[in-house]
Amino acid sequence: MEFADGIDKSYVQHPYWLQQVNQVKENSIGGGHGKPGILSITNMPHQCGEKCMTNNMRKKPVQITVTEKCNLKCIYCYEHAKDCGSLTIDKVKSILVHELADPRFDELEIDFHGGEPALAFDVIKPVCEWLWSEPREKPYLCFASTNGTLIQGRIKEWFRKNAKRFWLSLSLDGTREMHNFNRSSSYDAIDIGFFREMWPKQTVKMTISPHTLPNVAEGIKHIHSWGFELTANLAHGMSWPSDLIGVYRDELNKVADFYLSNPQHKPCRIVNFDLKKIGMESLHPEFRKLRRKWCGSGDPMICYAVNGNSYPCQLFAPSSTSANVDSVAERWDFTDIKNFIDPNCKGCCLDGACPTCYGMNYFESGTLHTRPKDMCPFLKCEAFATSYLYGMMLANKARYPIVAELSDADKLGYVRGIEIVQRELADEVMGY
Ligand code: SF4
Ligand code: SF4
Repeated sequence: MEFADGIDKSYVQHPYWLQQVNQVKENSIGGGHGKPGILSITNMPHQCGEKCMTNNMRKKPVQITVTEKCNLKCIYCYEHAKDCGSLTIDKVKSILVHELADPRFDELEIDFHGGEPALAFDVIKPVCEWLWSEPREKPYLCFASTNGTLIQGRIKEWFRKNAKRFWLSLSLDGTREMHNFNRSSSYDAIDIGFFREMWPKQTVKMTISPHTLPNVAEGIKHIHSWGFELTANLAHGMSWPSDLIGVYRDELNKVADFYLSNPQHKPCRIVNFDLKKIGMESLHPEFRKLRRKWCGSGDPMICYAVNGNSYPCQLFAPSSTSANVDSVAERWDFTDIKNFIDPNCKGCCLDGACPTCYGMNYFESGTLHTRPKDMCPFLKCEAFATSYLYGMMLANKARYPIVAELSDADKLGYVRGIEIVQRELADEVMGY
């Protein structure tokens, strides 16, 4: 592969890496999200739609499950309790008073979580109007993910009026046919244009099921054609037949080619593996200390369930798991990165860069760290497609703002990741 513009490929000795090692040595190292001065590592697919992510330890994501009820039956839904009640207005207010007073954080991201949160509109509206009625101790953003079908009439008008201080994120699974298969034939019940008009910068969440996988590229093009950027991920907790691996590889190639032809769009996560993280630990043992959790579950994120108790994130709440979550919290220190590293990934070139969801891991294996290995071939296809996409963009970077704006140091990281992925995975991925 040829890289234009004289990228220095002697990256292993490059001052960037030495500088990063020194930075590690100079800073105290801990789990959780980025701390000032430590190499920033972000971007992974989240069952929670990435609301748990922040590079700023001083910003706390607070999930409040305002209802477990939902009006749809999506085929991959992991919430088994759909009618266990709702939090009262007073209880939500008391949670917010408590969280706003937490001196460890400078900002809150308040996620009114469901079920379908619009079913708890009569809780959300008075709580927000109370919140907005006077100055609070710190800045906050109100947010909810919705299936969109109930954003109509008075609910829609309220969100229109408050769109600058309450953001809605839409779940949309691709074309009408894909969405309808996954999400209870609900495509035509959503005013998609309303979401585009009100929150043009908010990403749409696309979940891929085994049935919709063969049309992933069409689905992604469809969502971009509405004017949205998107996050996409394979649904967790489903069975993924091995005969879909080659299909996925070919779809990912189409997705990469779409982004090469449409440089105005940011590539979505399934072709946007964090190549900079690949193989870092082989450069210097100190890089192992840069490992951090993939998400904010349990630290700094907190999730309040309808019973009023708090959990590391929604996946540990009783609506999602039948496990004794209190013992999970006692057993596992969510601030200690050692509890989140899967020893079975050692030796894989993607170790350290591979996405995961600790809640789903716990669901499936009873540990936070054990990743479902039936997903490995799919993840390798994603990393391989990413290496193709970024290799092509770096070779023609004047055309692609997303790489043209990278620092030289980041370009070096990408080049190194591309080389490792191409060398280690080409035979395996092309053989599927
Ligand atoms: S592809 Fe599989 S073995 Fe490799 S890091 Fe990811 S989960 Fe671990
Ligand atoms: S463990 Fe929770 S916070 Fe982390 S990715 Fe999964 S759903 Fe999101």
